[in-house]
Amino acid sequence: MGKALIIGCGGVASVAIHKCCQNSEVFDEICIASRTKSKCDALRDKLQGTTKTKITTAKVDADNVSELIELINRVKPDIVMNLALPYQDLTIMDACLATKTNYMDTANYEPEDTAKFEYKWQWEYNDRFRDAGICALLGSGFDPGVTGVFSAYALKHEFDEINYIDILDCNAGDHGYPFATNFNPEINIREVSANGSYWENGRFIETKPMEIKRVYNFPEIGERDMYLLHHEELESLAKNIPGIKRIRFFMTFGQSYLTHLKCLENVGMTSIEPIDYEGKKIVPLQFLKAVLPDPSSLGPRTKGKTNIGCIFRGKKDGKDKNYYLYNVCVHEECYKEVGSQAVAYTTGVPAMIGAAMLISGKWKGAGVFNIEEFDPDPFMDALNKFGLPWKESYEPELVD
Ligand code: NDP
Repeated sequence: MGKALIIGCGGVASVAIHKCCQNSEVFDEICIASRTKSKCDALRDKLQGTTKTKITTAKVDADNVSELIELINRVKPDIVMNLALPYQDLTIMDACLATKTNYMDTANYEPEDTAKFEYKWQWEYNDRFRDAGICALLGSGFDPGVTGVFSAYALKHEFDEINYIDILDCNAGDHGYPFATNFNPEINIREVSANGSYWENGRFIETKPMEIKRVYNFPEIGERDMYLLHHEELESLAKNIPGIKRIRFFMTFGQSYLTHLKCLENVGMTSIEPIDYEGKKIVPLQFLKAVLPDPSSLGPRTKGKTNIGCIFRGKKDGKDKNYYLYNVCVHEECYKEVGSQAVAYTTGVPAMIGAAMLISGKWKGAGVFNIEEFDPDPFMDALNKFGLPWKESYEPELVD
């Protein structure tokens, strides 16, 4: 049916690539392009012969717009799947505009020298994408991603009005290391060491990092400590869900992770300010990334489950209603299927599905869109089919 150019070949991309190959009805051909071409070649060699999808590879520096344009013109994809890092979002969007090619990603743009992610930079591309007649789908991972699809689904089928959303992200997996991150360490540590915030009555309320803690009894997992974080879908859901009064995002962290993070912060290892080291400028956080376990090496070691979902509170037929939509994923099963742990799996599967929605024409549009702006139904069906079945509860435990 169509061709995708996938940029990046890390943890998330590897899962998305496996999933594109499982969905060869939609993905006739994929080109995997990244900074380190040998990783792309290794994945092609592993998957070739197991799938009808034709796989090619290329080397690209996604910070370089003209290199990207040259690659897109050569490959002529129906969509560019940006599975590199948030720093590359704008250069890849520029190249898509220049070549009139659809775009998707899983994380919003963040300038490398300021740990502050926001949609404003990408939303500013809306008129140019609309005028070029192409579509940018932003945030097609799990959170953001499936959490937006869950919100659109709840609004379409379960509520007349949604007033409160609590997004709960629980990783109860154990990789056996005292400290490691489940996705790119630099991006992950920037996110969790930033101030928290939640959206209430039309504005963001800022908190200190990890200031708000709750304990929640997660279905199929049990009680875990979770902490309020700022997260990108708060911004888009506040804009796209009419009648919303409050949105919060909580993520679970174990005590060992928090103790290590605090210690690393206290000694300056999480700083993104360059320092002089033996005549060379280095960024402490980038050095820390280099000494931490590579998230892709966690797959064979991680045991346990993730549970990510949204609790909605609102009104249906004049009555108050609560509704919880979530997915439970098992680390060991993900590893058995695609060789990755569940955090990469829960992001890579929705990345493939988002691209499939655009290639198949189930989702269409000219402009820049967040995922909750599209019809959730075909995406929800695809989640069940491609390894992330969802569950629902009409009597969830609520978060105070
Ligand atoms: P990794 O670090 O594992 O992979 C990143 C990949 O991008 C690597 O292959 C890297 O190449 C490549 N890359 C980096 N810079 C460039 C560049 N300039 N040009 C070309 N390729 C480049 O990251 P993850 O797979 O863990 O994360 C990928 C994305 O997914 C991130 O944006 C992350 O924020 C997002 N994410 C989203 C989630 C969600 O639920 N929405 C959850 C988790 C992650 P090399 O191998 O050479 O370093």
